[in-house]
Amino acid sequence: MSNNALVIEDKPPPMRINSTIDGGNTSEGNYGTKPLSTNQDEKEKKKKLPFFIFSGHKDKLKEKRDILISSPFGCEHIHHVGIDPATGEFTGMPHQWASLLKNAKISKIDQKKNPQVVLDVLNFYSSETTSKSQKYMSFTDKSKEAYDSIAISAEEAEVPPVPAAEDCEVAPAFPPRPEHTKSIYTRTIIEPPVPTLAAKSDTENGISTTDGAASNVDKTNKKPKMTDEEILEKLRSIVSVGDPKKKYTRFKKIGQGASGTVYIACDVATGQEVAIKQMTLQQQPKKELIINEILVMRENKHPNIVNYLDSYLVGEELWVVMEYLAGGSLTDVVTETRLQDGEIAAVCRECLQALEFLHSNQVIHRDIKSDNVLLGMDGAVKLTDFGFCAQITPEQNKRSTMVGTPYWMAPEVVTRKAYGPKVDVWSLGIMAIEMVEGEPPYLNENPLRALYLIATNGTPELQQPEEQSTTFKDFLSRCLEVDVEKRGSARDLLQHPFLKIAKPLSSLTPYIITAKGGL
Ligand code: ATP
Repeated sequence: MSNNALVIEDKPPPMRINSTIDGGNTSEGNYGTKPLSTNQDEKEKKKKLPFFIFSGHKDKLKEKRDILISSPFGCEHIHHVGIDPATGEFTGMPHQWASLLKNAKISKIDQKKNPQVVLDVLNFYSSETTSKSQKYMSFTDKSKEAYDSIAISAEEAEVPPVPAAEDCEVAPAFPPRPEHTKSIYTRTIIEPPVPTLAAKSDTENGISTTDGAASNVDKTNKKPKMTDEEILEKLRSIVSVGDPKKKYTRFKKIGQGASGTVYIACDVATGQEVAIKQMTLQQQPKKELIINEILVMRENKHPNIVNYLDSYLVGEELWVVMEYLAGGSLTDVVTETRLQDGEIAAVCRECLQALEFLHSNQVIHRDIKSDNVLLGMDGAVKLTDFGFCAQITPEQNKRSTMVGTPYWMAPEVVTRKAYGPKVDVWSLGIMAIEMVEGEPPYLNENPLRALYLIATNGTPELQQPEEQSTTFKDFLSRCLEVDVEKRGSARDLLQHPFLKIAKPLSSLTPYIITAKGGL
């Protein structure tokens, strides 16, 4: 570590201009700083900021919070929206959708130009209101008043109670990035409920999927959702028997995710440091995704993937033990420092190695972004968060569920086309932009508009392309090719000349230390 300190003194990594030196403790005159320059407490406070969803009616939901009678369940409200051939305008457009479009500044001309895209992104929000998995589908946005937004009740969201929208703490000028960049798992009303990996033995057609395959879209044989008891049974067959409180010691909280709390602990037998994610099962809106995560991590071991070690059922909780990465997430680094080409190439190469491995094992990650890349203090780069991944087979190698995080989603995901492993390559391209610009394209846009722009703009442009090397821009264009056939695969891109300039992984360490606010 002392060597690292010397490196920093010799040549500090370039900081982002709007970074705070004090690690982000907002002080006067410091507004507009990047959100992840915060200390852990601050981060957790921000994570608890209220969730907002876009559609729905504020008063109705306020009412819901007060009334104890349960609302109907299993209902789906299907909107029949058409297009008037004479005017080219939508007919039967629900009022809420119309106001969403207005707030997203998607004009009538835009709507006429791309009606299907508009419906696709709207459908996405529509499914949000009927789903219980709000955790995966909620956003905050700096212009929250611009939306027909509502604070959702604790029962609805299965998250700690939040105050009504009007009582909420005012969102900072730049919304906290972790909230703003939440992952989404949803399906639209055009798609039937989907079988999960956990339930794959139930599928008569033998399709091994974690979501609805594109070829299933037209089928109407709805798969029943797994019951809580079935989930528990499945988990019991996966987890180890025994008391992890005896196996691990010195628990210290290191993070709070939407699905649970992460602790660092020490393996009593080996002295190895581990990360343990503790999730209260009752509070999980999509328990199947957790099973998915464990199974994929367990079955896909690779040096560039956060290693799954063990799991336990402890009372009402599921504990997942994994390898501990002390360097934090890549988001912390990209929001605080400006990586150089050599380091960007190194991170891209490591991620591509993981993707090449996953794709060759028929797994699509589907949520590649800097938040899901963890770093070791030695510069190790590892993918994490496998809750959203899809297992494909040679026969069923396409998906259509809208999964991921909007800003990183490939156009074919947003436009609800059948998609394959190359969606991860697009997201990696967006992550490469994060490494240059500190955030993905359109992050300051209304999320609905961001989805629209992804679907219609094609390859996003760099803010200052003239400052980037030709080889980097070529690499980026190979990742961010809208035409999936022309887009490089993970294997192709591992051969790209840009990766040849990769610096040793240890060159990442000073950046990690800087992002942490020094030693
Ligand atoms: P979720 O996956 O529940 O939606 P999340 O992705 O926001 O939430 P988690 O994966 O639960 O977050 O992680 C919470 C925090 O713990 C993050 O700051 C993450 O960097 C840290 N963390 C998670 N896993 C590890 C690990 N293996 N080693 C070190 N830190 C970790």
